[in-house]
Amino acid sequence: MASAAPPEVIGERVLDGVGWVRGPVANVFTFREGGRIYLVDSGFPHNASKVRLAFREAGLPLSSLTDILLTHQHPDHVGGAAYLRWVTHAKVSCHEMDAPTVEGKGPMMAPLFVRLFLSPQPVQVDRVLREGDQVGPFTVVWAPGHTLGSVAFYHPERKLLFCGDALVTSRRGAALARPFSNFDPDQAISSVEKLASLEVSAVFAGHGHPILSNGGRALREAAKKVSKRAEHRWWTLVGPEGHPETHPKPEPPPTPRSA
Ligand SMILES: [Zn+2]
Repeated sequence: MASAAPPEVIGERVLDGVGWVRGPVANVFTFREGGRIYLVDSGFPHNASKVRLAFREAGLPLSSLTDILLTHQHPDHVGGAAYLRWVTHAKVSCHEMDAPTVEGKGPMMAPLFVRLFLSPQPVQVDRVLREGDQVGPFTVVWAPGHTLGSVAFYHPERKLLFCGDALVTSRRGAALARPFSNFDPDQAISSVEKLASLEVSAVFAGHGHPILSNGGRALREAAKKVSKRAEHRWWTLVGPEGHPETHPKPEPPPTPRSA
């Protein structure tokens, strides 16, 4: 029996079913499975035209988009969602702690210089997410720190991780985003350690080139680096009394359900 053809990919093909729509700042990813089409993040408002073009090039109407999954509240990830939801009626999902800001009812969790230069484009949230929720094939992994409602979307069967800005990636590996860009740096470190505990093959971050194999190793290396950095920072801030052995790190967020 002939094997089924792989699904068409919307955007630049990175893996079966996974497409990449490169933005000038943040990445947008598309994912097809089970008759649904997911968009992970939506870029700035003008990125929506690139998403529209990617659908056209794949021979699909934009209205076939079913779900917009937001990793967090920042305008370079949320901006295109309002237009895309309005045109396609796709369901917008984001974590409960970022939802008020995404809907324009709460302050942006970002450094002052970001808040001065970027204005959010609010969008209605159709589904509020919590740790362990299931969205189609994805398990929601709460990964706070960059913002309090940052999440990763984990596909346990295929070991894919869409992690937003919990990490940045390059062809060389993964790393914590620059400390000044994280709302709560200590939580961000705990979240990198949490993500490193997952079985992962490919990592798709909000910024940088995706990691398409051995993603788990890249995450564990990133976690090792951030742990060292955290230890150093505490030591220099408070002296020997502040060493992690006497002041253990705060409890990490709970481990997600595995496949
Ligand atoms: Zn961000």
